[in-house]
Amino acid sequence: MNDFGADVLRLWVASQDYRGDMVLSEARMQQVAETYRLLRNTLRYQLANLYDFDPARHAVPDSQLTPLDRWILHAFAHLENDVLRAYEAYEFHQVYQRLGQFAAVELSAIYHDVIKDRLYTDPADSSRRRSTQTTLHRLCTSLCQMLAPMLAFTADEAWEFLPGRSKPSVHETVWQPLGRVADPADVALWTRLFQLRDPALVTLEQARRDKTIGKALEAQLQFVGPAALLDPIAPHAELLRELLNVSALTFTHAEDADQIRIQVAAAEGRKCERCWHWEPTVGAHATHPTLCHRCLTALGSHLNI
Ligand SMILES: [Zn+2]
Repeated sequence: MNDFGADVLRLWVASQDYRGDMVLSEARMQQVAETYRLLRNTLRYQLANLYDFDPARHAVPDSQLTPLDRWILHAFAHLENDVLRAYEAYEFHQVYQRLGQFAAVELSAIYHDVIKDRLYTDPADSSRRRSTQTTLHRLCTSLCQMLAPMLAFTADEAWEFLPGRSKPSVHETVWQPLGRVADPADVALWTRLFQLRDPALVTLEQARRDKTIGKALEAQLQFVGPAALLDPIAPHAELLRELLNVSALTFTHAEDADQIRIQVAAAEGRKCERCWHWEPTVGAHATHPTLCHRCLTALGSHLNI
């Protein structure tokens, strides 16, 4: 208690399957403290990006959420389902495991990483940025509520910073799972994009090791394959590009191939000093030659252009 604090100790209790032997050791406490930090940082990241968000004024309706936001909300609905079932069955170690996993994989390794670009470089009031903030606000609300029974202090402390909160304390609220916002066609598409993401990341890693590229944003990825496989994906190129965090994607038909081949090339253009993407439009503007077209648009009113 003195070394780790009450919330970590409480989280250790929840993490144990009480039907078997319960393990209390320095190493186990360190592990639980690690998960605690992950959960706390998850809430902190979400709250930090809601500083200029008022749900009453800025929230976008489900139909205007971007595909990336709908994807994470869909994954989150599965998490809520599992957590609800586990709480109802008093299987608190399952709640602990699912929340820890989700914070590490879906949020930390994918969603929170991918959305940095839109949060930091899109115009503050753009629909894409507001869509992502709407999503972060929903995730953070529900996460605080799911964590409240285990992390009584931390969840309540985070709740105090949640814009537009319904009650002063999370412990006075009733958790209503968010539910689904995706239809089956969406889910099939996302499955396909993530199937391409895995080999693409391997290819990028190889190119980094060969020193073909440095950071992923220095690369453009070329997808080469038969039209039957490429054409369904091409309309969703921007979502795939965001998931891979590269500067550009190209699609090239090759009818003799029976699957998609992924190649890495240096991105065209120069590095934009604001968003760090490599863009052919950098240098085109006489007064602001270090910015890409997208950033010039985002900064339009500030730069008086
Ligand atoms: Zn830029």
